[in-house]
Amino acid sequence: MTTHSVLKPQPRPEILAIDPYVPGKSRVPGVAKVHKLSSNESPLGPSPKAMEAVRALAGSLELYPDGASTALREAIGRRYGLDPARIICGNGSDELLALLAHVFLHPGDEGIYSQYGFLTYPICIRAAGGVPVVAKETDRTASVDAILAKTTARTKIVYLANPSNPTGTYISFSEVKRLHAGLPPHTLLVVDAAYAEYVTRNDYAAGLELASTLDNVVMTRTFSKIHGLASLRVGWAYGSAHVLDALNRVRGPFNLNGAAQAAGVASLEDMAHVERAIAHNSRWLPWLTEAIAKLGIEVTPSVGNFLLLTFPKESGRTAADADAFLSARGFILRAVAAYGLPDSLRLTVGGEEANRGVVAALGEFMRGQGD
Ligand SMILES: *Cc1c(COP(=O)(O)O)cnc(C)c1O
Repeated sequence: MTTHSVLKPQPRPEILAIDPYVPGKSRVPGVAKVHKLSSNESPLGPSPKAMEAVRALAGSLELYPDGASTALREAIGRRYGLDPARIICGNGSDELLALLAHVFLHPGDEGIYSQYGFLTYPICIRAAGGVPVVAKETDRTASVDAILAKTTARTKIVYLANPSNPTGTYISFSEVKRLHAGLPPHTLLVVDAAYAEYVTRNDYAAGLELASTLDNVVMTRTFSKIHGLASLRVGWAYGSAHVLDALNRVRGPFNLNGAAQAAGVASLEDMAHVERAIAHNSRWLPWLTEAIAKLGIEVTPSVGNFLLLTFPKESGRTAADADAFLSARGFILRAVAAYGLPDSLRLTVGGEEANRGVVAALGEFMRGQGD
């Protein structure tokens, strides 16, 4: 029997051009205890109130959740002073980032993302039939000038992670406004503020004000990072009524499960927990930055809950060797070669034991011990 390709269902060609997203590793074969510092998860975990809310739901799993995530949208609205009608919740902000491309890109339209920006963006753009366009960064920081230089009549969406991942850098609110001012009105600016809560700079803004007042700005947020709910998948976006209307037509009718909604609401009722997570990060981010820089590793200044470490060529030590060395000792970092950063690893700020341990192990590695 002959098999010919047309006898099989054929995905659209642009789908097969997608490199699948590879999440951070979570285990090392043969190593019993690991510190997972590869996915920017919270070392404090979720609020105890969120855990209780999930437990309380166990007795009613046969019931469909509220398809409109009403209680969660109202809780977010109260917390940030926003109109709940202009909030959409997603199965992680990833779902919303993808929906935005599906809704606003026509076939062949261009979507711009920044050079080291989150690898989800080109996946979203391609999956929607669009053409991903990369804007070069300066000092591992998004460049407004480079993004605007790449903007054409076909540009329908611009994704900006602010702060960015994996670099941890950010651009100021005035730069975000300058970016918006330079974009045509038909281009949607998506500000992905997944790490906003961690930023302690007063020239930073997550994008609420722009998303509140402008037709072509959407801000996305997540409960995966500071709220410690990555497993449940809770994200949300805020934007103009016409953007929200389009998104609500295409999202899954029950896209947020009941546990996710309940845990999200409970998390917002425990801002003391969020404050603890911010305080923990504000203590350990500078500690790690300084301790690791002293070892001769380049550390990109970060405002998030993670650091990009770069192994200088002249050190004779490579990121790949460091990854193997640290993994064998139970410290899992994130390789970022897929981001075009083959000499770097990304390290999530962990708990005290993990932070002290990973610095000690990096020290051994740089001194060439245990080779
Ligand atoms: C972690 C992260 C997200 C959050 O994704 P979820 O789907 O909400 O878990 C979004 N954007 C960036 C840049 C991230 O690093």
